[in-house]
Amino acid sequence: MNKNKREKEFYSVDVGDSTFTVLKRYQNLRPIGSGAQGIVCSAYDNNLERNVAIKKLSRPFQNQTHAKRAYRELVLMKCVNHKNIIGLLNVFTPQKTLEEFQDVYLVMELMDANLCQVIQMELDHERLSYLLYQMLCGIKHLHAAGIIHRDLKPSNIVVKSDCTLKILDFGLARTAATGLLMTPYVVTRYYRAPEVILGMGYQANVDIWSVGCILAEMVRHKILFPGRDYIDQWNKVIEQLGTPTQEFLLKLNQSVRTYVENRPRYTGYSFEKLFPDVLFPADSEHSKLKASQARDLLSKMLVIDASKRISVDEALQHPYINVWYDPAEVEAPSPLITDKQLDEREHTVEEWKELIYKEVLDWEERMKNGVIRGQPSPLAQVQQ
Ligand code: AMP
Repeated sequence: MNKNKREKEFYSVDVGDSTFTVLKRYQNLRPIGSGAQGIVCSAYDNNLERNVAIKKLSRPFQNQTHAKRAYRELVLMKCVNHKNIIGLLNVFTPQKTLEEFQDVYLVMELMDANLCQVIQMELDHERLSYLLYQMLCGIKHLHAAGIIHRDLKPSNIVVKSDCTLKILDFGLARTAATGLLMTPYVVTRYYRAPEVILGMGYQANVDIWSVGCILAEMVRHKILFPGRDYIDQWNKVIEQLGTPTQEFLLKLNQSVRTYVENRPRYTGYSFEKLFPDVLFPADSEHSKLKASQARDLLSKMLVIDASKRISVDEALQHPYINVWYDPAEVEAPSPLITDKQLDEREHTVEEWKELIYKEVLDWEERMKNGVIRGQPSPLAQVQQ
């Protein structure tokens, strides 16, 4: 496509402090959220004749953290295809050459709200358990592709008013540094598991801890383990759940173990005390049964020692959740991630710039050829 024709395809509009330069097919942009990577707008897509969400990544190659996250997100979003993970509808950059390349725009399905907004609401057991079921289906699908999230939180989970739910991001790269002894910077860490806080090895059920924290918050309407930093947060964990056993302490590295052993000892509280009946809707015998099931699930998810914590599969079979079990959703074919080095990549700014630019061009190419996620795209004709 020649440069002039390409230029005419775009227009600019100010949203908040930022300028969005988008394809003309996207109209009526309105800011709906912002995260670590930038601003998200809703828009109307004239080609697809539906509302979409557009996220602007400004100079995503500017440093290692941004670049790795943007690249990983782009690659993974292209591969993953599951109803509980946000789907990518389009990717574009208004810049015309690698030299000029600055910004990437990701166009996604538009949802109504993030889970932070839902946490304020009084949900019945039906909605509560359905939201949890969908989180678990999405997580299971990520795990099947070898993606362990480790950073699930309400701001990265979005829902629609019909109670459908999607996970927005892919969490921490395997090589992402984290842990009690790391320098703190402002990110939400309340939902991170003890093995992440304490810098231990982890397995798939690291994500179950986060789901437990989210369920607890939906019931209590308060963050379960708030903390100014990991140290403060660890205190909140042991005050409520009790000091972990010697068997657990032995799994810690020496410096962390010394720290953990020197905290005051707590016996913790029973789950009946932590989540009393008054927190749950208990108007009928059925609701009372559901409340006790929800509490039982919480007690199996919020276990400090991961080796004693419930797995994703077990959680999907739990009586509170398994009422929704649908093999097509739970056992969907796992996505194939072709870039095996995805998490290990270390590059200079210039290399990242080129890698990300190539991913954008690759998307455009695939769209032209009508291929999306390895399959012919149903959107191909409309996108041309
Ligand atoms: P992010 O930059 O991905 O962390 O998103 C920041 C916020 O924007 C989220 O917490 C949501 O409130 C909102 N958001 C992002 N993507 C979408 C979407 N596809 N639909 C609705 N809201 C979204």
